[in-house]
Amino acid sequence: MRYSRFFLPTLKEVPAEAEVVSHKLMLRAGMIRKLASGLYSYLPLGLMAIRKVENIIRDEMNRAGALEVLLPIVQPAELWQESGRWDHYGKELLRLEDRHGRACCLGPTHEEVITDLVRKEVRSYRDLPLNLYQIQTKFRDEIRPRFGLMRGREFIMKDAYSFDRDEEALDRTYQTMYETYCRIFERCGLDFRPVEADTGTIGGDVSHEFMVLADTGEDEIACCSMCNYAANVELAPAAVPPASPPAAAVSEMKEVATPGKRTIEEVTALLNVPACRLVKTLVLLADGKPVVALVRGDHALNEVKLKRVLGVNELSLADGETVRRLTGAPVGFAGPVGLTKDVRVIADAALESLCDFVTGANKEDYHLMGVNWGRDLEPPEFRDIRVITSEDPCPRCGGRIEIRRGIEVGHIFKLGTKYSGALGATFLDPKGRQRPIVMGCYGIGVGRTVAAAIEQNHDEKGIIFPVPLAPFQVIITLVNTKDETMVQAAEDIYRELLGHGVEVLLDDRRERVGVKFKDAELIGIPVRITVGKKVKETGEVEITQRASGRTALVRAESVVKEVLNRLK
Ligand code: ATP
Ligand code: MG
Repeated sequence: MRYSRFFLPTLKEVPAEAEVVSHKLMLRAGMIRKLASGLYSYLPLGLMAIRKVENIIRDEMNRAGALEVLLPIVQPAELWQESGRWDHYGKELLRLEDRHGRACCLGPTHEEVITDLVRKEVRSYRDLPLNLYQIQTKFRDEIRPRFGLMRGREFIMKDAYSFDRDEEALDRTYQTMYETYCRIFERCGLDFRPVEADTGTIGGDVSHEFMVLADTGEDEIACCSMCNYAANVELAPAAVPPASPPAAAVSEMKEVATPGKRTIEEVTALLNVPACRLVKTLVLLADGKPVVALVRGDHALNEVKLKRVLGVNELSLADGETVRRLTGAPVGFAGPVGLTKDVRVIADAALESLCDFVTGANKEDYHLMGVNWGRDLEPPEFRDIRVITSEDPCPRCGGRIEIRRGIEVGHIFKLGTKYSGALGATFLDPKGRQRPIVMGCYGIGVGRTVAAAIEQNHDEKGIIFPVPLAPFQVIITLVNTKDETMVQAAEDIYRELLGHGVEVLLDDRRERVGVKFKDAELIGIPVRITVGKKVKETGEVEITQRASGRTALVRAESVVKEVLNRLK
């Protein structure tokens, strides 16, 4: 490709709308442009990187025996009603009506459509196992689209669905997909970790997320420093601290004035008690109904765990009005003592051994001190509803837990018979009995993978593409487009590289060489060949490695051989 004929609008300025480095660099490198919130156009350079990821995925999925299909984006509401998700998916599902008034939606995922296909075609155990995948545009009306391709509304996903005769066969397929995912992300050149994960709205029982490790990641992962345990903090069980010294009440419960003090910091400072002796009272709406959650002042509520305990889909903090109606006090002074019996109260398990604690008094500007379960209030239901911390032991081996950040690029699930049961996708087993097909599903965010690769591989000058994802492997910087010897040498190297199947960009623009260097660094091409004055003086050109910045002089005739070696 000749740069002068390429569509590569690079930007010098850092775009104000971008918060994370991958988003900034993808805009600056002319890979993407925003159309509207969460909607992006892929420009040639961006699309080339996306195709690289797609090709690696295709290659590995095919090798694992999966078969590529392409399903419709628009899906009829009836299928979603059959699975029960029409009412449960929430606002991320974009619903529309066609000209006949038929309800449909834009596919955020394809469990319903694929299960419908398979229930009509698969008859017998001889048709199984089957693993079908597609690489396609999804639409999710995300509440907060951000970080460019990282969390778009319209985005490219690889989704695969497996169909097996029983749980054992699913276990084998799942294991194959797990290994396939490891190979895919290794081949992309990424530093990643598979972690145990929550199953969310997709459902099912076992799932793993594939996390690219990066400080800017939206997810937190609990990793053990001793064994190989790693889990999303949404899921990681938090230990219950042993009650030592044995919990025993020593104080009387008394009301204390805390005028205007609402936060943990304000109350602990005023009363001179540590945050771990405070009980935080959160009034929430669970599928629209108020519930109260209690956690220790130094712990954080884990909404995913609480949702599971309550068996609800939506959870949000209650508004001030609801808090006042329920507790008789404004936000900041709620507490479990004397709460109405009509509301369900769930306390974190770490609170069970707490005594003489502090909590809101359900009265404006007052807290209670010296509160004790049993004596002052009915003990509530104790469950694990908090976020694990680096002070908790590893749930598997008791080792030290580290909290790291990651970007979820892939997610695999064992679905079991959730969808086949609901939609009636069955097969006849060898004894002629009709049984539901056992399913799994496996997703990869293609655009998010490219963004994550940039998040992990960049410097102050720009992107440093891992070779397998680089849109071009080599850029030839022609220093002077008016010098015939230089032009000839650059053209020769260009043609020779093309002949070897190398993806190469020849920077033949009439630009200052400084501009050319800056662009080459920004767009992150792994190897640069600079054809300048030296080619006339000594017959040499420069090879520069983008990652290390190291430069070597090589004779023009042998530069292609040298480059091929380096790209191996
Ligand atoms: P998240 O928790 O980040 O919203 P998810 O659990 O909803 O992700 P899945 O339904 O498992 O995601 O989708 C499979 C993959 O699709 C994810 O692992 C992720 O890489 C990608 N993905 C999901 N939502 C988006 C989005 N809004 N923009 C870009 N990629 C996405
Ligand atoms: Mg999501």
